[in-house]
Amino acid sequence: MKRVFNFAAGPAALPLEVLQQAQAELTDFKGTGMSVMEMSHRSKEYESVIASAEASLRELMNIPDNYKVLFLQGGASLQFTMVPMNLMSKHQKAYYVDSGSFAHKAAEEAKLFGEVKIAASSKADNYVYIPEVNASLLTEPADYVHITSNNTIYGTHYSKTPDVNGLPLVSDMSSCILSEVIDVSDYALIYAGAQKNIGPAGVTIVIVRDDMLGKVPNLPAMMDYAVAAENGSMYNTPPTFAVYLAGLVFEDLKKKGGVAAIEKIYEQKAALLYGFLDQSKLFKGTCQKPFRSKMNVTFVTGNKETDNKFVMAAEAAGLCNLKGHRAVGGMRASIYNAVTLEAVEALVAFMAKFEKENA
Ligand SMILES: *Cc1c(COP(=O)(O)O)cnc(C)c1O
Repeated sequence: MKRVFNFAAGPAALPLEVLQQAQAELTDFKGTGMSVMEMSHRSKEYESVIASAEASLRELMNIPDNYKVLFLQGGASLQFTMVPMNLMSKHQKAYYVDSGSFAHKAAEEAKLFGEVKIAASSKADNYVYIPEVNASLLTEPADYVHITSNNTIYGTHYSKTPDVNGLPLVSDMSSCILSEVIDVSDYALIYAGAQKNIGPAGVTIVIVRDDMLGKVPNLPAMMDYAVAAENGSMYNTPPTFAVYLAGLVFEDLKKKGGVAAIEKIYEQKAALLYGFLDQSKLFKGTCQKPFRSKMNVTFVTGNKETDNKFVMAAEAAGLCNLKGHRAVGGMRASIYNAVTLEAVEALVAFMAKFEKENA
C-alpha cells in the first residue's frame, strides 16, 4: 500500500484507521449482509449510525442540551444562504466580518435576505490578518454577527473569540471544527462542511441553539433548520455514507484523546512548521503572526518559478497538494486533524533540503 503525505485543503486527508474500518465493513456492515450505502435510512441499524455520530460529536465538543446537531447537505456554501434565510428575522439585518474569500461570499449571499453591515474587513490588505471587531461599534439592532473562525485560503485564524456586544454569534468553522477546545455556548450557530476536518464531502454539520429555530415562517422545507431539527436530520434521505464516515472519524478522535489531545498535536505541528518558516532565508509565511492558522499554513518564496519548482519536487517526493490557492499564490500546507506530526516533520525536512539545494 502506498499512502502519500497529503496536505490538501479540502477534501482532505482522513485517518488511515477510519478508511481501513470503512473498508472492512464495506460489504457487510455489522452482520447485515449489506453496506451502509445500501440500507434504508429508516432502518434500526442506520438509526444507530446517525445517533451515535451525533452522540460522539456532542461528547467531543461538549455541546449543551439546548443545541441541536443537524446533518445537512449543500456544503458550507449552502449555509451562506440558510443562515440569513433562517436568522434574519426581527431586524432583517446582520453584521459580517470580511476576513477572507468564504467570509466575503457569505456576506454577499446574505444581502439577498436583508441588510448586511460589514463589522470589520481586511480585504484591502489581501486578508493577511483578522480584522478587529470593535464591540462598541455594533450598536444597530441586528439579528446576528457572522464570522469565519478559520480562513482556509489565506491561512488566518481568530486569536480569540470576538466580543460581539451580546448579539448572537454565528461561525463558519469548516476548516477548524474539532481542532481546538471551544465553548459552544459562545455561539448561536456553528456550521462546517465535513471535507476538511470531519469526513468526506457531502455532509454539513450545523450546531444551532434552540431559540434560533423557527424564527422565519414559511421557509422551503429543505431550507428550514426547524424542519431538519424536528425530523432528526431525516426530512429526506440524509447523505448516509458520509454521516457514517463522519461518525467513524469522531470515534477515532475520541480514541485519540479528543479535542484537547488533538489541540496539543496542532501546537507541535504549527510550532515546527512556522518555526522553520521564521528562520528560513528562502520561504516566508504570508500572514501576520498573531493570526496564523494552525490548520492552513500559507507561505511563498517570493519567486513564482521557485514556488512551482518546490511544489513539483515535493509532489515527486510524496508530499502532495502543496500548491497555494490562486488568490494567495505560493504554497499552502493544510495540516488538519488527520495529517500527522510525522507528515509535518517530513515536510520541514524536505523544505530544508530544498532550501539548501536552491540557495
Ligand atoms: C471549504 C470552505 C467553505 C466551502 O465549503 P463547501 O462545502 O465547498 O461549500 C466555506 N467556508 C470555509 C471556511 C471553508 O473552508
